[in-house]
Amino acid sequence: MLVVMEHGAPAAAVERVVEVIEELGYEARPMPGAQRTAIGVVGNDGRVDASRLSALPGVAQIIHVTQPYKQVSREWRPESTIVTIAPGVSFGGVDVPVIAGPCSVESEAQILESARAVRDAGATALRGGAFKPRSSPYSFQGLGKRGLELLALARRETGLPIVTEAIDDEGAHLVAEVADCIQIGARNMQNYSLLKTVGRIGKPVLLKRGMAATITDLLLSAEYILAEGNDKVILCERGVRSFDPASRNMLDLTAIPTVHRLSHLPIVGDPSHGTGIREKVTPMARAALAAGADGLLVEMHPHPDKALSDGAQSLHPDELATLVDELRAVALAIGRRVTPAVGLVRVQPDNHSISGTQRAAAGTH
Ligand code: PEP
Ligand code: MN
Repeated sequence: MLVVMEHGAPAAAVERVVEVIEELGYEARPMPGAQRTAIGVVGNDGRVDASRLSALPGVAQIIHVTQPYKQVSREWRPESTIVTIAPGVSFGGVDVPVIAGPCSVESEAQILESARAVRDAGATALRGGAFKPRSSPYSFQGLGKRGLELLALARRETGLPIVTEAIDDEGAHLVAEVADCIQIGARNMQNYSLLKTVGRIGKPVLLKRGMAATITDLLLSAEYILAEGNDKVILCERGVRSFDPASRNMLDLTAIPTVHRLSHLPIVGDPSHGTGIREKVTPMARAALAAGADGLLVEMHPHPDKALSDGAQSLHPDELATLVDELRAVALAIGRRVTPAVGLVRVQPDNHSISGTQRAAAGTH
């Protein structure tokens, strides 16, 4: 439930509402907004006596959140949430960051070569798994802590922020020491203990859709993180299992506008795991951006034929550079902008400047 205050309601009125919510035995989450302050009622079982709250001074409206997820819903927060993972790198606004890099961190030489290629291609952030959740226990499991050290080195070399995966509670704390954004992979989307842990850690989280998860399942998983007080969550569509072996997964582009309608959280598209096949990555990356994605996650390897994981879907460095150029053009057409790599902020020509109004007109949210 949400208690919406009148425009300009005094702080004392907000405090009184908070007190009454607490007297009723619930937790109050005040959310000052541009238009009005709303106070979320957390921990209620749906049977709150709204009459005690609606009669208080300054209360404009009581909204009963109808979705099973609460804090994640657009009913709870009408404005889109912008999640910033590093200075100048935000998801959910006009800018569209491109996170690129290898599936796994394999060696110092490999990750440094990858990071330079990502930066030179004009992408925005570096990805690479140090802890790998592999379908087979006999496949490469990642370099672990050493992989994290190498990611930190790559950030020092290039300035690129780091997105890397945590696969368990213990690892999440290690990952948090290095990552600018903690990835929760498809296989762990419903690892509720891990979701609560990253919720408590409080760093930005990239939450990938499970391979057989509905959009409601995805949003309920995000709710676990927000319920711990961390609203810095970026969702990710990475394809779902389908009956058709023509591609590894079926990238569900409808998830992007659907999530935008249901939730205030940003969503990025992952055409690499979403297709599993290199030649399909570029067209699906363009399509995800055109569908309104707030960012892209793309696998690139300096030598894909030698990759220890996901080589078949990894772009070559020159393909990533071409893709980023194309994404710039797509972004421009819909009133958005690909976030430049750190230190490479390009001045846009006047007729190419982008406004929030243009973005709204493009119907991206
Ligand atoms: C990855 O990003 O390398 C990965 C393992 O992705 P997913 O969890 O979507 O399979
Ligand atoms: Mn991968």
